[in-house]
Amino acid sequence: MKVGIYGGTFDPVHRGHIDPVLAAVGQLGLAEAIYLPTARPPHKAGRPLAPARRRYEMVELAVAGEAHLRVSGFELREDGPAYTIETIEHFRGADPKVDLHLLLGTDSFLELHIFRRWRDIVSAVTFAVLGRSAAPLEPSPGSAAWVARTQGRVVEIDHPPVDVSSTEVRRYLSRGDRPPTGWVPEAVVDYALKHQLYS
Ligand code: ATP
Repeated sequence: MKVGIYGGTFDPVHRGHIDPVLAAVGQLGLAEAIYLPTARPPHKAGRPLAPARRRYEMVELAVAGEAHLRVSGFELREDGPAYTIETIEHFRGADPKVDLHLLLGTDSFLELHIFRRWRDIVSAVTFAVLGRSAAPLEPSPGSAAWVARTQGRVVEIDHPPVDVSSTEVRRYLSRGDRPPTGWVPEAVVDYALKHQLYS
């Protein structure tokens, strides 16, 4: 069974986190894609994040009604950073026959070298890369992303880029404004404004 796993801060979740994933589900025949909101991302020090439980609940609202999308709290633990390889080993342990696909945007994929034990990740999953721009995916020769591609572990999902980022969405919400229609599910906007997550 093919399963997608998709980690991120989702601060907040937006259409760029959803539409390309739905395309991946269809193109790869994933039984499900599992969102993993991360309490303490290893690579994003600095900016304070909205509380992890709130980010989790926004993802729940965003995927409600999508039959193949679900959310897991596995990366919500606060006792240390959530490393992708540990998440992979957890899901592999739960079902050794599972065919894991790691979903990630181009920017994250090109930074594969900063992931802890990236070679083990390359051996364990297929990378399903969600394009963030129309530019072709060009890992530099010798880089971790290049190694993954050379080993035939990479699939590029065919989907038009969704030009939305959490950073831009937060700009609107921090002023108490709604982002442009279509950027973020309305229930997520309502939730973020109600709980004043970014103001
Ligand atoms: P920020 O805008 O604050 O940098 P982000 O959306 O890049 O936030 P995360 O929520 O951690 O940060 O992203 C989770 C995953 O979603 C990452 O793999 C990222 O590359 C991917 N992603 C984010 N936005 C898009 C988009 N518009 N299209 C495709 N993938 C995306």
